[in-house]
Amino acid sequence: SKNSVAVIGAGVAGLAVAMRLAGKGYRVHVYEKNNYPGGKLSELTIGKYRFDAGPSLFTMPQYLENTFQAAGLDISRYFSYVKHPVACHYFWDDGTFLPASGKLEDFAQAIEHTLGVKGQTVKNYLKNAAFTYEKTGRIFLEKSLHKWSTWLSIDTLKAIAYFPKYQIVKSLHEVNEQWLGHPKLVQLFDRFATYNGSNPYQTPGIMHIIPHFEHNVGTFFPTGGMHAITQALYQGAIDLGVDFYFQSQVTKILHNSNKVSGVVVDGDDKPYEIVISNMDVVPTYKYLLSDTPQPLKVLNYPRSSSALIFYWGIKKRFAQLDMHNIFFSNDYKSEFDHIFHQKSVYHDPTVYINITSRWNTADAPEGCDNWFVMVNVPGNTGQNWDDLIQKTRENVLKKLKHNLGQDIEPLIEAEGILDPRSIEQKTFSYQGSLYGASSNDMFSAFARHPNFNQSIKNLYFCGGSVHPGGGIPLCLLSASIVSDLIQNR
Ligand code: FAD
Repeated sequence: SKNSVAVIGAGVAGLAVAMRLAGKGYRVHVYEKNNYPGGKLSELTIGKYRFDAGPSLFTMPQYLENTFQAAGLDISRYFSYVKHPVACHYFWDDGTFLPASGKLEDFAQAIEHTLGVKGQTVKNYLKNAAFTYEKTGRIFLEKSLHKWSTWLSIDTLKAIAYFPKYQIVKSLHEVNEQWLGHPKLVQLFDRFATYNGSNPYQTPGIMHIIPHFEHNVGTFFPTGGMHAITQALYQGAIDLGVDFYFQSQVTKILHNSNKVSGVVVDGDDKPYEIVISNMDVVPTYKYLLSDTPQPLKVLNYPRSSSALIFYWGIKKRFAQLDMHNIFFSNDYKSEFDHIFHQKSVYHDPTVYINITSRWNTADAPEGCDNWFVMVNVPGNTGQNWDDLIQKTRENVLKKLKHNLGQDIEPLIEAEGILDPRSIEQKTFSYQGSLYGASSNDMFSAFARHPNFNQSIKNLYFCGGSVHPGGGIPLCLLSASIVSDLIQNR
C-alpha cells in the first residue's frame, strides 16, 4: 500500500490535495481545528439569510474540474455552475454608472457609451492580458518555481525572454494610465490588484493579466453558492476514503534525521511518512516548526490586505444592483495609502456588494436580498478595530445612501461582521490577510514560500500563503503542484 499522508487544515487547498492523493491510492488523514471544512470558503446563516463567508467570485473553473479529473471522479456528480452574464455593476459618486457585461463586445460598447473611450482600447488591453497570461503567467503559476526542472524547460526560458516587454518595472497603475488613459477606466482596471490583496500603485504591471480571468474567460456562479465548492471537494475526498478529524488542532510537525515523521494532535504523536501543511506558512514555522531554522526573509515579507465585511439581510431589492457591485472611492490613491502605509481605513472607501440571492433565491426571503458588503482594509497589527468598524459602517451607509438614493440602515434586518481579527482567529491566517504575502514589488513571486521544505524531506506546503498565491484558482494549483511533487519524489 502507498504512503500515509497527514494534511494540516481543510481549506480549499488542503481538501484538493487530499482528494488528488487519495485518488492515487495514498492513505490520507486531514486534521482541521474547526468543526467544519473550507476555512475561508465557508458559509453562515443569520436569521432567514444565508451568506458565503469569504470568497464571492469564482473564476477559472477548469482548475476545479482538473482536480476532480486527476482524482478519477466525475465532477458533474458533485458540482455544477453557470456562467454569469454580468461581470460587475460599477458606480461612481458623480452618478456615472457602468454595467460591465460578461460579453466583451457589450462591455467595450458600454465603455464607449459611458466614458467616451473607444471600445477597441479595452479590447486591445484584454487581448494583451490573454497573450501575457499564455506566454508567461501560466509557466509561473502552474509549476514549482523552486525546482531546477522548471528553470531548465524551454517554456520557462521563453517566458523570461518575454518579460521586459511586460513592464515589470512599472506599476500596474502606470501601465493602466498608459494604455487606458481615462481616469475612471484606469480605476476600474487598477481594482484588479485587490484580487490578490495588493496595491495597484506598487504591484508590477504584469498583474494586468488578472482581468483576463474575469473578462476573457468569464465569471461563474456555483449552484448553491460559493460554499458548494467546499462541499464538493469535501464529499469527493470522503468518497475516495480520506479520513477527516475535526476540532483537531495540529500543534507540532515531527521530524528526525532531516525527514518528516508525523504530527502532534491533542498531545498525541501520530506517525506519518508525508506531511502537508495547509496552515498559513507564518504560523506553521512559528508554532509547528519552532525547532527548525526559520526562512525569515519569506516570513517577514509584508502581507496582502485583509477585509472588513458586513453581512446584511436587506428587506428590499434594488433594481440597479446585480450579483457583483462596486461603489468607487473618489480618491483611490488615498484609499490604498491608508491600507498599505497608514494601516488604517480611508473615510471614503470603495465598497463591494455581493448578492448571491439574485441567483440562489433560497439565500433570502422573497423581495429581500443578502448583501455581503466588503471594504479592503489592512491586516491586523493591533489597530483599534472596534472604533474603525463603527466609523467605516457609518461611511459605507453614507456612500450607499448617496448612490442608491435611500437610507439603507432601516432596511437591515439581519447583521453579522467579519474583520481581520476574526479572520485570523478562524483560519490562523497571519494578520488576517486574505492572500498571504502581498505582491507589491517585482520580486514578490519569489518571496512566496516554495511548496516544499528545503531541508526536511517529505514536508510540503499548499494554500494561499505559498507558491503560486492566494485566491481559489491559485490555491487549487498549489494542491496540484504538491500532488505532482509527491508522486515524482
Ligand atoms: P484557508 O481557507 O486559509 O484554510 C486553512 C484551514 O486550516 C482553516 O480551516 C484552518 O482552521 C485550518 N488550520 C490552520 N492551522 C491549523 C492547525 N494547526 N491544525 C488544524 N487545522 C488548522 N478568493 C477568490 O478566489 N475569490 C474571491 O472572491 C475571494 N474573496 C475573498 C474574500 C474574503 C473575505 C476572504 C477571507 C478571502 C477571499 N478570497 C477569495 C481568498 C480565498 O478565500 C483564499 O485564498 C482561499 O480560500 C484560501 O484557502 P487555503 O487553502 O489557503 O486555506
